[in-house]
Amino acid sequence: MAVEPTPAVYATLAAELLELLPDPTGVVDAHTHLGADEDGQSLGLERHLGLLDQVDEAARACVFALHDPERRPAYRTPNDRVLAWAAEAPGRLYPFCRLDPADDPVSEGERCLALGARGIKLHPRAQSFGFDTPAATAIFELAGDAGVPILIHAGRGMGPMDALADLALRHPQVPLVLAHGAIADQGMLATRLADHPAVVYDTSCFSPFDVVELFARVPAERIVFASDMPYGRPVGALFVALRVAAYAGLDVEGRALIAGGTMTALLEGRPPPPPTPPPLAAVRPASGRLSRVGAYLLMGFGAAIGSGPPPDPAKALPMIALARAACRDPDAGAFAATLERIDGLLADAEQLIAGEREQALVAFGLLMAAGAIAATEPLAAHRESAV
Ligand SMILES: [Zn+2]
Repeated sequence: MAVEPTPAVYATLAAELLELLPDPTGVVDAHTHLGADEDGQSLGLERHLGLLDQVDEAARACVFALHDPERRPAYRTPNDRVLAWAAEAPGRLYPFCRLDPADDPVSEGERCLALGARGIKLHPRAQSFGFDTPAATAIFELAGDAGVPILIHAGRGMGPMDALADLALRHPQVPLVLAHGAIADQGMLATRLADHPAVVYDTSCFSPFDVVELFARVPAERIVFASDMPYGRPVGALFVALRVAAYAGLDVEGRALIAGGTMTALLEGRPPPPPTPPPLAAVRPASGRLSRVGAYLLMGFGAAIGSGPPPDPAKALPMIALARAACRDPDAGAFAATLERIDGLLADAEQLIAGEREQALVAFGLLMAAGAIAATEPLAAHRESAV
């Protein structure tokens, strides 16, 4: 199988990634999709593994279906495809079954678990359901009996998720992966589930500040790397997760837990590592110069995704230009080298966006990485003990 080459423009990111995680063989991407989505996105097995190989050829991933046009009845067809793909890549993929609480979820879950599914995926926005229902309770009971984790969309498009917290607290034995940093209700979930023994938060977020803030709200042992492929890419997403982890002061062992160690424990039916206090202080010093750059990058990213689906990377260009203008500073002080590095990444992103569409999507990875750098300089300076 052909390994998809890591884009050349990622060279400095890949080099830093190797410093942040010298041994990438234990990486587990907690949140990836295979198949087709109604929004036009799709991802096949070879491409998925090729992108995962960019991290390491031993890297593993949890995989599940998208909002597949062939999901009825009961997600059976997409679930069968995911199980078959996982069987084609032994040792690399943990297949999860996607369930629709309104469409025979328990028998479909039992069927998939008997066929080797290692977890359950729920998408309360796409399937428009709440957690205060007998079906949701039945799915938690199924996961508890089988000893498998449930990954739940907790990102864009959700209302308050108090009913999920209630259900999770009634079933503390069920490991939970709250996707997208639980941004739909991060404060409430981090607070109410503070004593839950097996809830983790995945790092696939639009904004690096959501990931940074996780390290101030929950134990580092409750944070797991995820890319949300095909919407993100493992190399760029891992860079963001580990860059933030280093900023939070995690050493190489701590970063290895984020990258895959903690998720491996959940997938193997072991408890996650014992929690330690959130490493970041609630109030943190920041560089005003870098904050300007980061703000424009987020505006550009919002313009690009707001124009979709599919996103139009060209819509980000005016804000990238403003971010680059903020990088041009003859008196940048301690952050001169950082601003120069970010400017270089943004220059590459501009060139990619001017090219063909696939290249333009690679540019998103550069924007995310540049935003993460702007949000996390200087590294390892803002631990609670240092304030
Ligand atoms: Zn997803």
